Amino acid sequence: MNHSQSYLEIDISKIRDNYKILSSICKTSEVACVIKANAYGLGADKISNALFHQEKCQNFFVASVNEAIDLRKNLGLGANIFVLNGVFRDEVDEFARHNLTPILNHLGQIELWTEFTKKIEKRLPSILHIDTGMSRLGMPGIEVDKLISKSELLDILSLEYVMSHLSSSEEVENQYNLEQLRKFKHYLKYFPKSKASLSNSSSIFLGKDYHFDLVRTGAALYGINPNVSKPNIMHNVVKLTTPIIQLQKLSSSNFIGYNMTFTTKRNTIVATLPIGYSDGYSRILSNCGEVFIDGHIVPVVGRVSMDLITIDVTDVPSEKIFLGQKVEIINDYCTIDKIASIVGTIGQEALTILGGSRYNRIYKNNA
Ligand SMILES: *Cc1c(COP(=O)(O)O)cnc(C)c1O
Repeated sequence: MNHSQSYLEIDISKIRDNYKILSSICKTSEVACVIKANAYGLGADKISNALFHQEKCQNFFVASVNEAIDLRKNLGLGANIFVLNGVFRDEVDEFARHNLTPILNHLGQIELWTEFTKKIEKRLPSILHIDTGMSRLGMPGIEVDKLISKSELLDILSLEYVMSHLSSSEEVENQYNLEQLRKFKHYLKYFPKSKASLSNSSSIFLGKDYHFDLVRTGAALYGINPNVSKPNIMHNVVKLTTPIIQLQKLSSSNFIGYNMTFTTKRNTIVATLPIGYSDGYSRILSNCGEVFIDGHIVPVVGRVSMDLITIDVTDVPSEKIFLGQKVEIINDYCTIDKIASIVGTIGQEALTILGGSRYNRIYKNNA
């Protein structure tokens, strides 16, 4: 199977437009870019370059120290690089060497970082992550109370930001958002010298109260709808195309694909495409996915195979159906969000799955 036939096109100018939209909504806050997991699968190098050099974004969040070192090498000095998973004993030197800022998630990490900064006699910036109700990463309330009582520790720490993360920000009506906001504000009182950060993409749309000094955006930058109760105001940034590699004319009562899950009910033209679940095209899309040929919506028929799908092109004008014809799997109509909702997941997962795939990548409008 030749996967070099499929092309994943990533439009850098659309990502920049999305950054501008988010900046215009968060007028009094800085917009940081979350580029963990290789910028949600789309390519951290190219995307961070454009956001840093063209959009003058100064602040970037990654998950791990490896991602942070790659980013530092890519962007050079100047950008602030924050590491969400925090710092571990065998990583402290790397943090100092590459000027990375750890997000300290519990007292153990606080102790590790203060010991280290004392040893090298430098005050290095860090972020305190307080858990306001997700019970995932972040310092639980009891530990925060302990920390607050140790003012000498706070002096050494030089906490640039205090942050937290919301559990249900895409659910605009969920009262838990307010409860987390209230807890966050309560704790902020004890850190008057630090700036504050609470919002991811969706939290921005809960209103200005949630913005604070810095918002951390990932999904919305990459075109995923952050405000699910409304039409998407973000631009789609990805297009995935693949060619027709075989055509068959079938009469009625023929089976298509594994396990005979589709039976033709008329004279049918079936086209085969070299893309399947190993490329991130979920098997759940069997008999319910939709693709696009030159403006025509075309249904996926039969099971999605490992490297192949079959589509019913009977209703597309015949001059548009030929071997090598480009079929759009993801575009402005068949969006990541739409595919995610059919599959029963969120856009973030549907997007990051593409990242592990073997597609050729094209970066459009990459200055
Ligand atoms: C991933 C992540 C974000 C970005 O979330 P999006 O919904 O993609 O905008 C923000 N903050 C934290 C702590 C994260 O882990």
